[in-house]
Amino acid sequence: MHGPGDVRVEQRDDPEITVPTDAVIRLAATCVCGSDLWPYRGIEPVRRPSPMGHEYAGIVEEAGREVRSVKPGDFVIGSFMASDGTCEICLAGYQSRCANVEPVGANGAQAEYLRVPLADGTLAATRGQPDPALIPSLLAASDVLGTGWFGAFAADVRPGKTVAVVGDGAVGLLAVLAARELGAERIIAMSRHQARQKLAREFGATDIVTERGDDGVARVKEMTGGYGAHSVIEAVGTQESMMQAIRSTRPGGHVGYVGVAHGVELPGQELFFAEVHLLGGPAPVRRFLPDLISRIEDRSIDPGKVFDLALPLDQAADGYRAMDERRAIKTLLQP
Ligand SMILES: [Zn+2]
Repeated sequence: MHGPGDVRVEQRDDPEITVPTDAVIRLAATCVCGSDLWPYRGIEPVRRPSPMGHEYAGIVEEAGREVRSVKPGDFVIGSFMASDGTCEICLAGYQSRCANVEPVGANGAQAEYLRVPLADGTLAATRGQPDPALIPSLLAASDVLGTGWFGAFAADVRPGKTVAVVGDGAVGLLAVLAARELGAERIIAMSRHQARQKLAREFGATDIVTERGDDGVARVKEMTGGYGAHSVIEAVGTQESMMQAIRSTRPGGHVGYVGVAHGVELPGQELFFAEVHLLGGPAPVRRFLPDLISRIEDRSIDPGKVFDLALPLDQAADGYRAMDERRAIKTLLQP
């Protein structure tokens, strides 16, 4: 990305093993993330031309000499945050905030090859070479599924609970799927877009709320006997969506916030009296990967449905544009 709205596909040097804990993978597929739209729209500054992309699935091409858990030829999926898997934060399940964390996106996953640092603590392998039909779903596990899943976990979704999801991007839609898998009884998806409402229903939404902001909050309260939802997942990252999530949650309930916050400021006194649990941040996707990969291999979930546009890598700029204009939910790029 050279600047807002300016995405170009250029030839870069092939990545190499730089330290013995690295792996280089050949991508089977990559994609454009909703969070890539923040710099694309100029909301995050682009100070210099930057390699883009942090979602990846592919085959290990080369592994550094200290890498033990994967080997050349393995099909792997990894998190957008590289983690050592051994520090106290990783062992507690918060790999995205590992003491030695490295953002994989800095290397640019929207590419043919990618260097993944800390391969042992970052990558998870499939059982064998996957059916090509499963690749979009496996790619989804790299971020949007893992992030939606963490949102549902952070919102303490459990059997019998009523869950509301704020945001109908890929993460919000997959948070609906996660809530269903985790046994929620009622799942309220908040969306004004027909195609996204339809996908939300396929993923398990039982109700759709089209109102936003305080009107959306009022609808959720009406639907829950005036209490609010037990669990609310915030998957946008704006002031409005965060307040909508907190206000839709009943006292004692849980908010899982996974939209990357931009300009969000929480009013202390309202937060005090809301009396809700708050947990969020960059999802520790690695923690969930083995379970998510198994569910995909068993064909019990189909998160790859969020990709409604697939383009060759050299048409990446069109993929960004389609998502920016909300013509596409999520663009898959084929190297
Ligand atoms: Zn760690």
